[in-house]
Amino acid sequence: MQIVNDKGCSWINDLNPRSNIKYLNKNEECEWIVIGAGYTGLSAARKLGQLFPNQKIFLVDAQLAGEGASSRNSGYLVDTTLNDGFTSNKELDNYKKKTDIYKLGIDVIKKFIKEYQVDCDWNECGKYFATSKQEDRKILENFSGTLSKLGFEHNLLSNKELKKRLGTNFYNIALHTKGGILLHPGKLVRAMIDTLPDNVNLYENSLLLDWEKKNDTVICKFKNGSIKTKKIIFATNGFLKSLGIKSNYNFPITLTASMTRSLSDEEFLSLGEPKEWGVLPVRPMGATVRMTKDRRILIRNTAEVYNPYQMSKSELAKRSLKQKIGIKKRFPKLPDDIIQSSWSGIVSRTRNSSQIFEKIDDNIFVAGCYNGSGIGVGTLFGEQIAIKAINENTKEIETIEARNKPTWLPPDPILSLGVRARLIYERLRANSEI
Ligand SMILES: Cc1cc2nc3c(=O)[nH]c(=O)nc-3n(C[C@H](O)[C@H](O)[C@H](O)COP(=O)(O)OP(=O)(O)OC[C@H]3O[C@@H](n4cnc5c(N)ncnc54)[C@H](O)[C@@H]3O)c2cc1C
Repeated sequence: MQIVNDKGCSWINDLNPRSNIKYLNKNEECEWIVIGAGYTGLSAARKLGQLFPNQKIFLVDAQLAGEGASSRNSGYLVDTTLNDGFTSNKELDNYKKKTDIYKLGIDVIKKFIKEYQVDCDWNECGKYFATSKQEDRKILENFSGTLSKLGFEHNLLSNKELKKRLGTNFYNIALHTKGGILLHPGKLVRAMIDTLPDNVNLYENSLLLDWEKKNDTVICKFKNGSIKTKKIIFATNGFLKSLGIKSNYNFPITLTASMTRSLSDEEFLSLGEPKEWGVLPVRPMGATVRMTKDRRILIRNTAEVYNPYQMSKSELAKRSLKQKIGIKKRFPKLPDDIIQSSWSGIVSRTRNSSQIFEKIDDNIFVAGCYNGSGIGVGTLFGEQIAIKAINENTKEIETIEARNKPTWLPPDPILSLGVRARLIYERLRANSEI
């Protein structure tokens, strides 16, 4: 088994290729190993490197560091999300706990980019939860009530205002939240790789095949070597289940997205020259659509149960066609062949949208499952799981641990049948929004 990624991710292709890639080709021993080098693993390894400058720390990834979901996402650093079903007062309390975590996630990224002077196209322009369906007004009004109770600045907008701001007539109503940031996920994760402490040894293209705990050590087996470690942190997100970790609490979902080329001056003018914006769907299976600062349009409108290790070119092309239709619906005047590239990425889901952050055995820790919102939370959880692993406590850990814990999921095939059925139902409900 190998994780084989398409080469279509625009965010990755915007960057210069990296050099000096090392893979594991011998047997090693160390104090710490972190498996998975996305936001979570990079952040955990950074923290460990800072805490223990004289210890040997390994960070290992099956593909190139950061080139999993951490580069393949839509770049919304969120302060709030919809579709969580929080309506009663008790649920309001739970929703607050969730947004407290999002806030800490934003803070940790802000601190990182300030400390290392990172340019990741940071734009504090907020985001829209938008829909073409008038009947979704009720959902947005309820959400507006929740946001008001929690003190989040926001406003409801109608079609006319949206057309002016977004350059499309498609949306009839939206809720704009002032908080939340749009960024370039590839640039952010690349900066995290480039600024790893010197005592963090990064091995890439090295898939963890198997692991076992023997007395006080954990032995990790790779194709061309093994690593014996005292402590391990699993940060493989959508691949936790395939490593047998918290298997009854998480499952992978495959998303696909496409990006257009930059719009020409004429095309951009025809849309009214909108400023950079980001729309999230009101219905769970609707489309995420973004206008980037360099006038490209990103669209993500599929989510499915699929083999997380690989998507063939022909299967990706089918999803890309859906994205072409999504763009056409919103921007009918733009040419048909405007999509420049398409890619897939894996996220991890739990039943109740709660994240995993825990010690699963002596010296074995895991953080992941951000249910599609892992830029800030993943970075936060990575840092904090490293601190938890040395048995220390922080205010951040207290906030994280106050959240609802993920709930139990049935085993396969019941689980995948259930998830498939649910996704079909949600897809039908969101049909016009794709
Ligand atoms: C299309 C798409 C859109 C998204 N949009 C957003 C968004 O707008 N905002 C947001 O906050 N989040 C978004 N997300 C989710 C976000 O990208 C993830 O939550 C985040 O990247 C999780 O980071 P991570 O480090 O935990 O996991 P990943 O980035 O998935 O990293 C896990 C790493 O583990 C490695 N790995 C897996 N198995 C093994 C193994 N056996 N051995 C070694 N290494 C292994 C993988 O190669 C991978 O690099 C989106 C995701 C996708 C796919």
